Amino acid sequence: MRVRLRIEGTVQGVGFRPHVYRVASSLRLGGYVLNDERGVLLEAEGPDDAVARFIRRLREEAPPLAEIQRMTSEEVALRGEDGFRILASGREGEPLALVAADAATCADCLAELFDPGDRRHRYPFVNCTNCGPRFTIVRGVPYDRPLTTMAGFAMCERCRAEYEDPGDRRFHAQPNACPDCGPTARMGDAAGDDALAAAASALRDGLVVAVKGIGGYHLACRADDEQAVGALRARKHREEKPFALMAPDLGAARALVELGPAEEALLTGRERPIVLAPRRPGARVAAAVAPRSSDLGVMLPYSPLHHLLLADAGAALVMTSGNVSDEPIAFGDDDARERLDGIADRFLTHDRPIHTRTDDSVVRARRRGAPPLLLRRSRGYVPASLDLPLDAPPLVACGAELKSTFCLAKRRRAWVGHHIGDLQNLETLTSFRDGIAHFEELFAVAPVVVAHDLHPDYLSTRYALERDGLQLIGVQHHHAHLAACLAEHGETGPAVGAIFDGTGLGADGTIWGGELLVGDLARFERAGHLHPVGLPGGDRAVREPWRMACSWLAEAHGEEPALPATLAGAIAPDRWQAVARMARAGLSSPVTSSMGRLFDAVAALAGLRATATYEGQAAAELEGAAASAGPQAPYPLPVGDGDTVVLDARPTVLAAGEDAARGEDAPLIAARLHAAVARATARACVIVAERHGLSTTVLSGGVFQNRILVDETTAALENAGLRVLVPERLSPNDGAISYGQAAVAAARAV
Ligand code: ZN
Ligand code: ZN
Ligand code: FE
Repeated sequence: MRVRLRIEGTVQGVGFRPHVYRVASSLRLGGYVLNDERGVLLEAEGPDDAVARFIRRLREEAPPLAEIQRMTSEEVALRGEDGFRILASGREGEPLALVAADAATCADCLAELFDPGDRRHRYPFVNCTNCGPRFTIVRGVPYDRPLTTMAGFAMCERCRAEYEDPGDRRFHAQPNACPDCGPTARMGDAAGDDALAAAASALRDGLVVAVKGIGGYHLACRADDEQAVGALRARKHREEKPFALMAPDLGAARALVELGPAEEALLTGRERPIVLAPRRPGARVAAAVAPRSSDLGVMLPYSPLHHLLLADAGAALVMTSGNVSDEPIAFGDDDARERLDGIADRFLTHDRPIHTRTDDSVVRARRRGAPPLLLRRSRGYVPASLDLPLDAPPLVACGAELKSTFCLAKRRRAWVGHHIGDLQNLETLTSFRDGIAHFEELFAVAPVVVAHDLHPDYLSTRYALERDGLQLIGVQHHHAHLAACLAEHGETGPAVGAIFDGTGLGADGTIWGGELLVGDLARFERAGHLHPVGLPGGDRAVREPWRMACSWLAEAHGEEPALPATLAGAIAPDRWQAVARMARAGLSSPVTSSMGRLFDAVAALAGLRATATYEGQAAAELEGAAASAGPQAPYPLPVGDGDTVVLDARPTVLAAGEDAARGEDAPLIAARLHAAVARATARACVIVAERHGLSTTVLSGGVFQNRILVDETTAALENAGLRVLVPERLSPNDGAISYGQAAVAAARAV
């Protein structure tokens, strides 16, 4: 018999055609295989039982980086073909979606790396079809060596032979290289193994080493060296934001953090994200690694260079992004030299250029059994496509401002770009523009629609307005959060969404952030929200949580509040009074229903933090405190049942203030707030769901990066008999906004 098979999913650029070839050849089948715009298309003919076995083995023995989503087959007429061939792509003009994500070194390559008899022994750029750099080295399509940053390295005869042999693990592995023909590691005058030895010894001596990795430069030092970590913090101008760690292996990671099976699977998976998990008591890390943080972020080596460095250094390293303060991570060699000069004592670098800057991805454990939260989706995940639950015209969605990403889409597929960072300066704007142009080429999307946030001042919105000739679709921020979560679960709604974050422009022109929405992908209504208060001083109130404590107390008391004892040491009485007057009078105090700001206010009242040194710090510390107290009785947080369901946090803040005045400790106050918000949110969702006859709820927005809050609210909703959708493949934070905009635009475009 002869069959035609169509295979969809992640099947291009991952060694799928050679896999088909090998299986077909071993069964002596005739036919062909090729890539086209939908995936892999093949025909195979031979005896019935051999063809049946062929189909089974295609799945069972699929290459590690492949993910088969759909496989359909039909019987076609015999052609009497006896050889099996790999054909060139079946399409003209339009380039193919051949680019996979960067993948961690596979077990076979790792074995070669540490095998003294292998020709790639200790070669820091070993890779094969199943692993290695991909997205970060691609300059254009088709994905072929001349259009990667490996173009400058001519393969030696032995590498070429592997590359051309369909039976070899390196058949068509574009970054294939060896010590004779490939890139070289360098540190100062030392090259190759000498460079690695010198780097390891510099780390042991307590120096800071800039390390060029897959998506950019890291700054590394020993994690247990108090002085080295302190020096790195001071030079980087990073006050308290935790540093990520790289542990030599899983055993070493387990000694640092508490890991469940889901976290261990992520740590050792090919994406190799940073996993945030509770710090183990007695973990051997310097205090300056993550001051006042109950979690540590840990990852495992993901490139051969990291494997060698960690093995040689023999200890966990700090591996933080190579940048100053909040700038984007350095990835160009000259740029890194310039910007990291004075921070790094040494540079361990190499001559394989990085084309696209890609930060480490970050995931966070939830309660046991629940899928972890993907907080930052970048290296290892990008540019894998996500499905859309409806057909999209070719479109680009521009995202929000902080933790920015963009998204390209057509038909049922969406490609969310790498983490760009905070889109607030020329450098991030340039990577945003370049990234969109790059993705348009890689995935052959010629947008006819551009989706954007309603905020007119976001650089992403201005970019959208500059794109000529496209249909503009403005999407409300929290609606985009709701749509993103529905769409990633393959749903179109309607559903009730509790969308809690720091800020987003509302449909009424005020700043939203504690929203109960009812909506589907096309439209929404605001069914409820957190009681709004003023942001005294606007953006300053975001950096200074004590201002939110003042504003909430003023709102709750209905008069100018006295300076709480817990803030007396941190804030001068006259400043407090000035802000209290400002809040009462509504001067320079835009109104917000932000849930993030409520958490800030209570963190300040509890005496945890009057001013923040990085975004989300107060809330993160409040969560850490709550975790240490365990479950506690909730504060009052009444839920109104008017036309709009209002969560009234005034009594909550008063009760927290009384606890603080009585000298109750911060963990108790924190835990009581978490319990109150979880319970009130669930109650509000139940009210809205009943009114609208709905049974599905969505929890999203940056506030739901909080593990306690997401787990407790989910449990309460499930107890009430509602379904709960939580982001899994994208972040609850603004990294998912672009994909949500794409889903809304697809639903609205005609
Ligand atoms: Zn490999
Ligand atoms: Zn070679
Ligand atoms: Fe948001």
